[in-house]
Amino acid sequence: MTQPCIITIAVTGSVPKKEDNPAVPVTVSEQIESTHEAFEAGAALAHLHVRDDQQRPSSDPEKFAALQEGVRKHCPGMIIQLSTGGRGRAPEERGGMLYLRPEMASLATGSVNFPNIIYENHPDLVHDLAQKMLDYDIKPEIEVFDLAMLYTAHQMAEAGMLRKPVHVQFVFGLKNALPARREILEFEVAQLNKLMPDATWTAAGIGRSQLEMNRWTLEMGGHCRTGLEDNVRYDKSRLAASNAELVARLAGLCAEYGRHPATPEEARQILSLPAQTAVA
Ligand code: MG
Repeated sequence: MTQPCIITIAVTGSVPKKEDNPAVPVTVSEQIESTHEAFEAGAALAHLHVRDDQQRPSSDPEKFAALQEGVRKHCPGMIIQLSTGGRGRAPEERGGMLYLRPEMASLATGSVNFPNIIYENHPDLVHDLAQKMLDYDIKPEIEVFDLAMLYTAHQMAEAGMLRKPVHVQFVFGLKNALPARREILEFEVAQLNKLMPDATWTAAGIGRSQLEMNRWTLEMGGHCRTGLEDNVRYDKSRLAASNAELVARLAGLCAEYGRHPATPEEARQILSLPAQTAVA
């Protein structure tokens, strides 16, 4: 019996543009199609951002609504996670689509430097987003870009500010934040297991660390993330052809580590989410 690995597809993100890789989906219809292909290749969870007409990050709730509706329709059972990430979006707008009640949303529990900006998450904003997620019954994915964010998440969970069991994503490879080093991942996972033994975890490697991080995570028993948001290349020799191509490679790797891509049903069970059927 192999162990399931939830594959998250990070479809679009805030940064990569068509100029970086023409396969980056930026319109809602492109995003739905790309998510559907990734779903068929083995992804069980979609991490979603939306863009405006100039490909800039957008907070438009109507776009989020259309994207969520399309993914629900075409990818039965897939878990939808909307991003409350900050790049290029006003703080007060970042939770503006949570009333759509996605099953999950991302939540960074602290601030950190990114390559060219401060990724600013004021404690009041973190609490406001967490409260909205409680109000709308949304499970957060805690984004840990730096170690302190893990301890803050633990404190918030103890204070009843986060739904339990907590799900954490460790992020590596962004310039000025944590480098992709296995010792750091091992330390973070050990701390997580000590603080919140019932928590689940994923790790994401940005840029060229994506595949290496996938391999470490498969070996260590975590869940995996891939996608054009984090990495527009397949390898040194060429750009990725699609989100589905990155998912298919990761799905193929699972067997090497005694794992298999989790079905949506398995992913829901692992994340303590309701076994939901498709919305008509
Ligand atoms: Mg994101």
